Amino acid sequence: MATLVDGFGRTFPYLRLSLTEACNYRCSYCLPDGYQADGRPTFLSLEEIKRLVRGFAAVGMRKIRLTGGEPSLRKDLPSIIAAVSATPGVQKIALTTNGCLLPRHVRLWREAGLTALNVSLDSLQSARFAAITGHDRFAEVMEGVEIAQGLGFDAVKLNAVLLRGLNDDELPAWMDFLRDRDVSIRFIELMRTGDNAAYFERHHYRAEALEQQLVDAGWTLRPRAADAGPAREYAHPGYRGRIGIIAPYSKDFCAGCNRLRVTARGDLRLCLFGDFGIPLRPLLQSDEDHDALAARIATQLGLKAAGHGLHEGNTGITPHLASIGG
Ligand code: SAM
Repeated sequence: MATLVDGFGRTFPYLRLSLTEACNYRCSYCLPDGYQADGRPTFLSLEEIKRLVRGFAAVGMRKIRLTGGEPSLRKDLPSIIAAVSATPGVQKIALTTNGCLLPRHVRLWREAGLTALNVSLDSLQSARFAAITGHDRFAEVMEGVEIAQGLGFDAVKLNAVLLRGLNDDELPAWMDFLRDRDVSIRFIELMRTGDNAAYFERHHYRAEALEQQLVDAGWTLRPRAADAGPAREYAHPGYRGRIGIIAPYSKDFCAGCNRLRVTARGDLRLCLFGDFGIPLRPLLQSDEDHDALAARIATQLGLKAAGHGLHEGNTGITPHLASIGG
């Protein structure tokens, strides 16, 4: 079985594919003014996505996460999930969504082959949720999460970005929420991007501070699976749910990197905060280019750096995470 290995010995079984840059939310840390269409070329088509995923599977990708923008805004999402699911070699298909369309569509996505779900939920308080996301859809998201929990997914996870002064006092409420629910919450440390420097200065909250509160409350660190995301996951015998911490500024964060990214326009990104994209779209126009595509992915991996430059304030070419899928 093929495996992609970079110059630092890291392997890459995991692809994050952005399906669109469009989003219907206006998250204060990401797209506070909402998505602005720029009239540039359209996003990858279903046929292009099929070829792309076949190419990545040929070089060892086993897990794919569909993201955005908001991926559920794509009308052809069920067909995309079904196509990815039918690709030989792909074992897991996850979706990261803001969750507002879950009640309407999540059953269909599951039937199409989706195996895991991440739902963004920055607060357990409806008014705060609306203030952070610009969208008063807390009830729909919660309803959707409840439905999803009954559909037999491998995992249903919630994502909350940690925001000083906005939601950094909710750990006790989250623990209550997790006591009897088989759900994981991931607390993501706010990342600085090209567009959010002033916001970052105001609201950045260190993940380590939250992690210390967990340890003090008796939560213990779990071992990490090979294709797992970057979260350090904690469990506690008194709670069914788990808590993950994603701390991009922590030492050795990049040493565990196991994912590549492709933007909605078909550029390979070797790092969330890299300085360049590698166009794959020209090789997605014909099945004949399959071998050339696989070769381009494998050779370009040689350019992957040891780590991001976030500590030096270098956010690369990423204006906000909706442009690349987080
Ligand atoms: N629209 C989908 C969603 O809401 O989950 C998928 C795309 S969104 C860019 C993916 C994840 O990135 C979300 O959990 C979001 O909260 C997170 N995110 C966006 N900007 C971020 C930032 N500056 N720092 C940390 N996380 C961020």
